[in-house]
Amino acid sequence: MDPSNKGKGISEGSASQSQPQQPPQSPPNPPALSRYESQKRRDWNAFCQYLRNQQPPVHISQCSSNNILDFLQYLDQFGKTKIHAHGCAFFGQVEPAGQCNCPLKQAWGSLDALIGRLRAAYEENGGLPERNPFAGGGIRVFLREVRDSQAKARGVPYKKRKKKRRNPMQTHDVEDGTTGTSSSNLPS
Ligand SMILES: [Zn+2]
Repeated sequence: MDPSNKGKGISEGSASQSQPQQPPQSPPNPPALSRYESQKRRDWNAFCQYLRNQQPPVHISQCSSNNILDFLQYLDQFGKTKIHAHGCAFFGQVEPAGQCNCPLKQAWGSLDALIGRLRAAYEENGGLPERNPFAGGGIRVFLREVRDSQAKARGVPYKKRKKKRRNPMQTHDVEDGTTGTSSSNLPS
């Protein structure tokens, strides 16, 4: 038996070794942050800045769920998602046929993702998990209320992922930008 015959295709597929070795004198660059990591850092800095700007300033160790809820509402002024008010002719319409004066707000999905990043950042910056204000029940309730009211106002149902769908071919439609848009709405 010749052991070199064993792996037939082993020479194929490993041809992408074009990268030259780094010269040893090059300075050690810090590893580039992923999009998520850099977004998380930006969010965290924005939140700490927000706390510092309160009258009187709030230290992160004294941050309560009320500060967080205030922060989320403060962010609405930078939102880009039209949320129709009760009484607007387009309330509940997915694709309104015209313009209205309803305010732009943060989409629920953006807030939800933001809270997830801040919750992680809090603990990475030395906060105790059992005292993490971002994990509090009040925040969850608030997010759920925002989700439900925005679903009604925009005519966009936020589906539960666990639920099985009848037609598996349609799993990727009407999410309507509630995920993945979270990066662009925050002040920097
Ligand atoms: Zn409207």
